[in-house]
Amino acid sequence: MSKLNLDKIKDKLLAERETLVSKLSGNDLSVDDAETPDPVDLAVRNYSKNVMLAVSENESKQLILINEALTRLADDEYGICQNCEKDVNPKRLDAVPWARYCLNCQELVEQGLFDED
Ligand SMILES: [Zn+2]
Repeated sequence: MSKLNLDKIKDKLLAERETLVSKLSGNDLSVDDAETPDPVDLAVRNYSKNVMLAVSENESKQLILINEALTRLADDEYGICQNCEKDVNPKRLDAVPWARYCLNCQELVEQGLFDED
């Protein structure tokens, strides 16, 4: 794991999450700022009122992936494929820091060969 710059990845994930959250909340972050609502919660709440359903569905999913990646970072499990438990290619993580699977397993997911959950 020494090849991965985890601080940089974390920064990327947090920045991406902020972008998504502000998109999903329709740029209206002023609502209960004081409570700093959980982004997923915010996304879900917003999901029901958002007009652009398809867009926000994708973004909500990505938000979940980002939160998962942040959890894996915290748990010291970042960069491990969630299916085969091999190391995910660092270049892939650089491009898609919230990637759940290595390239092989991602292909299987896309072909519907195993259930994501
Ligand atoms: Zn894999």
